[in-house]
Amino acid sequence: MFEKVLVANRGEIALRIHRACKEMGIRTVAVHSTADADAMHVRLADEAVCIGPAQARESYLNIPAILSAATITGADAIHPGYGFLSENADFASMVEEHGFTFIGPSPDHIRMMGDKIAAKRAALETGIPVVPGSDGAVETVDEAMHIAHDIGFPVLIKAAAGGGGRGMKVAETRADLKNAWQVARTEAMSSFGNEEVYIEKYLSRPRHIEVQILADLHGNVVHLGERDCSLQRRHQKVLEEAPSPALNWSQRNEIGHVAAEAIRKLGYRSVGTIEFLYENGGFYFIEMNTRLQVEHPVTEMICGLDLVREMVRVASGAPLGYTQDNLRFSGHAIECRINAEDPDTFQPSPGRVGDYHPPGGLGVRVDSAIYSGYAIPPYYDSMIGKLIVHGANRNECLMRLRRCLEEYVIDGIKSTIPLHQRLVANPDFVNGDYDIHWLEKFVGMK
Ligand code: ADP
Repeated sequence: MFEKVLVANRGEIALRIHRACKEMGIRTVAVHSTADADAMHVRLADEAVCIGPAQARESYLNIPAILSAATITGADAIHPGYGFLSENADFASMVEEHGFTFIGPSPDHIRMMGDKIAAKRAALETGIPVVPGSDGAVETVDEAMHIAHDIGFPVLIKAAAGGGGRGMKVAETRADLKNAWQVARTEAMSSFGNEEVYIEKYLSRPRHIEVQILADLHGNVVHLGERDCSLQRRHQKVLEEAPSPALNWSQRNEIGHVAAEAIRKLGYRSVGTIEFLYENGGFYFIEMNTRLQVEHPVTEMICGLDLVREMVRVASGAPLGYTQDNLRFSGHAIECRINAEDPDTFQPSPGRVGDYHPPGGLGVRVDSAIYSGYAIPPYYDSMIGKLIVHGANRNECLMRLRRCLEEYVIDGIKSTIPLHQRLVANPDFVNGDYDIHWLEKFVGMK
């Protein structure tokens, strides 16, 4: 097992990884920008190294500084968290070339899944159903027109190198296609430096359902059930739940089994998430994330596993030690992402936190790195915490969640707590009756 792990991240996820390591008897190294000198992940780590100025490009994305910090402190392994360098295949390779263990998948798997066309092809080859569309990149408008005619409008033009919902354009009809194709290519080039695009059938009322998988270095793979992440604003997840209110046990087992088998065939290691759109009883692969997800705690709450601990264990070469048959999913969990944003306009609201009182009690977990007196810096993502609630069933979970949102006090800044309060009172949400477009309408309704 490792003796010292460097955590190449900040905020709640850096703290989350630190906590898992501490409980395993592993020492931790925090890295931080000058803006984060007072951050909780820095205070709690055994050692801390400043790796650069506030701008992420010069600190949390600064590969030479991070590798130097690992060398100076004698770390054995590096955990990238999510965001920042977590899906950068070159970073993962460099970590390994410098003699450290990368706590995550192989650089080749990160690279493959980072190219959405290659990912879709790999999914098809391993038996995962995909959204109908082009077989690879689409080079000309004529070709796009031909494919759209075959699969039927509306269609979605997507960037091969896409991420964060950018580089996606819908064409409702033939008349829209040329423009959508051009806009998507231009956006893909400016955002990702790669203008390659492909076409998919645009599903009109799907849910976003993703399967969590976990694999060791010895070919053992399990799935940890699914999460429903359909509640999105601008393709950003707002609230996630496990299990999905839309699936029954046989669908759950089937999609989990398909995902785990595909991962076994790929020889993948570590945690990963296979994202699907689900419509009219069918699952369609959209992409795979080769890292820990923000919403991983809802899975932990229903299956009783610490996913970060498992990631660290398998990275050190330990076998899983259990099979699919040993795993049980119990109860229901919901996560609310708490952002430092105006709950109506979604304008960021950084600043100093005044009184701070997170909710507690049975089945309640708050993953956050903020504290009373903490100044939320304006340079990074606006998510400042996650409220995760578990109950014996969805109804108990919802009752508990309402109670927690009422208790939650974060003074001094604006947060999305009022948005979540409104959401958990809505009958469609309470009935689990929503798709990926539902939240946009709900947000606009006020
Ligand atoms: P990104 O990597 O940018 O997040 P994804 O492929 O994961 O892109 O898609 C993000 C979101 O866009 C999905 O969760 C879904 O809401 C929507 N989306 C993607 N593909 C389709 C599709 N074929 N039809 C309808 N919506 C889609």
